[in-house]
Amino acid sequence: MPTTRYAPSPTGNMHLGNARTALLAWLQARALDSTHILRFEDLDTSRVRPFAFDSIRRDLEWLGLDWDLEYVQSERLEHYRAALTRLETYPCICSRREIEALASAPHGQEPIYPQTCLERPPAPGVPAALRWRVPPWTVRFTDHVLGPLEQNLALEVGDFPLQRVDGVYAYHLAVVVDDALMGVTHVLRGADLFGSTPRQIALQQVLEYKVPKYWHVSLMTDYRGERLAKRNGAPSVSELRETGYSPQALLADLVRSLGWLDTPALELSEVLERFKSGEFALG
Ligand code: GLU
Repeated sequence: MPTTRYAPSPTGNMHLGNARTALLAWLQARALDSTHILRFEDLDTSRVRPFAFDSIRRDLEWLGLDWDLEYVQSERLEHYRAALTRLETYPCICSRREIEALASAPHGQEPIYPQTCLERPPAPGVPAALRWRVPPWTVRFTDHVLGPLEQNLALEVGDFPLQRVDGVYAYHLAVVVDDALMGVTHVLRGADLFGSTPRQIALQQVLEYKVPKYWHVSLMTDYRGERLAKRNGAPSVSELRETGYSPQALLADLVRSLGWLDTPALELSEVLERFKSGEFALG
């Protein structure tokens, strides 16, 4: 049975870019006849805005993007804890700034952690993050939209944290555990996560989980070619709804932004039909 998901972080109102990813995940779901999950990724409590849960649900409903099951990550901590005990980790007290000073990295790239705390472990009892000893092999996968990618985590990424010093479980751990336990077969999400998918696949391999199929879809950009984000003034779906915009007009905007069709208004059922027939296609 195919299972799909849309997994927003409830950090604010949905903007058009979020709505586009939600639409594509829904189209994938209904085309595959899958069980479609809405999963709120709310582990990073410093970024969560409590109003966002309801405003995301309302925006999705307004667009007609329904779902079959709902989960909230903060209610599932025992699953992340259990998975973490099965992985080889070590406590680490290095700050981001210390790591940047220790490791050299090409401009704009995350430095590779030089395993300082593996070689000289912090004193027991000191609050520490838990870093995963990544496996030595090369991870390979083929994305349905973006094609093949291979990455050697030890050489290209380095050991990365699975739990922060404040106890928050890392996104990569939670996503992998949830996708596996929820039986997710197809992951559709923004292309910004393409490059970190090998980290998730390595976790799946070590935890002996099934590897889902991946569809990484392009992110919506503004007229300058910059990725849409609330902070760049992208209008939120709620704002558009409140100013009298119709869901059919918004769907037409999203369909136009994908280069599929230029029309003033579209029904969701028609978008789905054209997606199923292959007239609207990704990639
Ligand atoms: N919660 C992530 C986000 O909002 C998406 C994670 C995923 O789909 O794997 O960007």
